Amino acid sequence: MTVGVVSNRISLDAEVQYVRGVGPIRAREFAALGVRTVGDLIEHFPFRHELRPRSQPIGSLDYGRVATIVGQLERFRVRGSFARLTCAAKLVDGTGQCRVRWFHSPHLVDKLHNGQIVRLTGKVEVDHDLALMTNPQTTILEEDADALAQDQDRYEPVYPGTSRLQSKWIAGIINRILNEAVEAVVDFVPESIRRRRSLPPRRTAILRYHQPTSLEDVSVARRRLAYDELLLCQLAVQLARRRMKTGFETKPIITTDEIDRRIRRRFPFDLTAGQNQAIAEIRTDLARVQPMNRLLQADVGAGKTAVAVYAALSAIANGRQAAFMAPTEVLAAQHRAKVEQYLEKSRVRIGYLVGSTARSRRASLLQALQAGKVDLLIGTHALLEPTVRFRDLGLVIIDEQHRFGVSQRGRLRKKGESKDSSCPHTLVLTATPIPRTLAMTLFGDLDVSTIRGLPPNRQPVVTRLVPPEEVEAAWEFVCSRLDLGEQAFIVYPLVDQSDALPLKAATAEAERLARTILKRFSVGLLHGRMTPTAKAKVMERFRDGRIKVLVSTTVIEVGVDVPDATVMVIHHAERYGLSQLHQLRGRIGRGCRKSYCLLFAESAGVAQRSSLRSANRLRILCETGDGFRIAEEDLRLRGPGELIGTRQHGLPEFKVADLVTDFDLLERARDDAVAILRRDGDLKSPKHAALKRALIARYRDAIDLVDVA
Ligand code: ADP
Ligand code: MG
Repeated sequence: MTVGVVSNRISLDAEVQYVRGVGPIRAREFAALGVRTVGDLIEHFPFRHELRPRSQPIGSLDYGRVATIVGQLERFRVRGSFARLTCAAKLVDGTGQCRVRWFHSPHLVDKLHNGQIVRLTGKVEVDHDLALMTNPQTTILEEDADALAQDQDRYEPVYPGTSRLQSKWIAGIINRILNEAVEAVVDFVPESIRRRRSLPPRRTAILRYHQPTSLEDVSVARRRLAYDELLLCQLAVQLARRRMKTGFETKPIITTDEIDRRIRRRFPFDLTAGQNQAIAEIRTDLARVQPMNRLLQADVGAGKTAVAVYAALSAIANGRQAAFMAPTEVLAAQHRAKVEQYLEKSRVRIGYLVGSTARSRRASLLQALQAGKVDLLIGTHALLEPTVRFRDLGLVIIDEQHRFGVSQRGRLRKKGESKDSSCPHTLVLTATPIPRTLAMTLFGDLDVSTIRGLPPNRQPVVTRLVPPEEVEAAWEFVCSRLDLGEQAFIVYPLVDQSDALPLKAATAEAERLARTILKRFSVGLLHGRMTPTAKAKVMERFRDGRIKVLVSTTVIEVGVDVPDATVMVIHHAERYGLSQLHQLRGRIGRGCRKSYCLLFAESAGVAQRSSLRSANRLRILCETGDGFRIAEEDLRLRGPGELIGTRQHGLPEFKVADLVTDFDLLERARDDAVAILRRDGDLKSPKHAALKRALIARYRDAIDLVDVA
């Protein structure tokens, strides 16, 4: 690697190690912060700025405020030794005096002495009616220096650092190279856009973000830099989508009005407006030669399955096959039951394939599938096995997408590919509502269908936070519902996969409940270490009412539908994310009876402050049943990575942009990206050359990966 200074200019690609004063050891520390080059270094932005106000007379100090004072040191003393070292002094300026203490500051001991002129910045406290500063920022002024030169309010950047790389030191390094390095920064946003969006030049933004003269500076600079990140992200998403669309072709699936009428007759209800909207979007997609790649998101219970069945029947009516993959056997079985109910007395031939399907059945099923004698294949991961071959796969439906990795989805889609590079349409269902900002970041907001609202006559689930002192009353309530013939879920969290405790807790709890509080009712147990078959059996017994109370460790399978289950008790609710709790509670409230979700937050009292915070968090669930609002709240509280799993989704990491607060910027960046690509789809125009370079530098790898769902 070349040395950082090339013909007296700092190259942004130069390794940070060669910046004067850094060296290999600190370079390693920088690497831990994601800083490898000079370019990274000047984009290592402060996470806040500390006010260093201009100086004021000591006699005018206000208590409780941060202030700067300049004066002469008197009565400088050192007490203690080594780690316990304390220095004390007085600073006087003719208008008053201020006591000063420095703890743990051995480096100052040799430098300070009586009579020196120093500048101190710190918070002013009172001690016996006298002003006092503790560990102020201390600058020794030269004997003949003009103490008031450059004396103005300043905002000092505070940088993310490590224990061995402190903010102040980072500030020094950045300070040294910033002016020179920023000269090499290229403004890749076309000027017309910059002007329309009233954004400052990129160089100015970088300079000001590090060294603002006002807080206004910080926010203007931040906006510009956030916009840049969002614009690149939106360009990457749009380009990836476009590439995917032009890469493959498929046979269109045409849903004529006659087909539409025939499919609708299959449902024992009228589809909701939200379902119809989603169906209209899917119909349009299917009719194209580019394969559909659509995400259908809706709150739990909103009726995604019906929409998926509509799409499948559309494909089948066109003489094609469809595959419907669920993440677990329990769910696959449930989909089969539901689909069979919808398709009773129709000519549609349904196949069912899961891991536990017997070998002989499997063989004949696979043969029928390849011969085109199965129209709709429902199952689990088993569908991905190489022996599963379709005759003419037109549509792939994947339920509860976040359980599958990106590559698995790709594998199922490939099953429909033939030599002419045709590829089936794909529909992915998810019950974790994705907030708009995330949808836009991940998919550019296109190809996402959203069903808002629930089918009519759905009773909202009454949700209550149960404090420890009301637990007994809560159990009495549970019994009173069971006496009415209703059913209950009791849920324990699986805190981490290797944690055996919740399993024990649930097993013990199931036994205890069966012996005591719930001894009049049949209690069943479901946990993650049971075989799929055993799990399916327990679920079946619960569904047909032989088990009244189901104690469960892991998340009860997402999507499980038991209409008579009206009560859910969730232990350690504070350990779950809001969206996860909302998913869980979606297991009840599926019938026409009123349902109740009781959140037990047991650790209350253990860590008062954090339990208070989590109780506040949980309150949202009691207030609203709108999964989208809950997801927004989760996003705000826990960040996007927690909500959907950053790595799996290839969600880009932003240095500056904030998906929670920068929604307006994100929308603008999206519009601008679309406008740029509409006129210059391959970014070939010279005025987009810089933009293209920045895009490749940032998203070289990701452009390949960005994919719907
Ligand atoms: P999701 O998969 O979105 O959680 P489901 O498709 O399982 O929801 O539907 C939940 C329940 O609502 C099912 O029992 C289904 O039969 C019913 N349902 C779906 N659509 C409608 C509708 N338009 N009107 C009335 N009930 C509906
Ligand atoms: Mg479902």
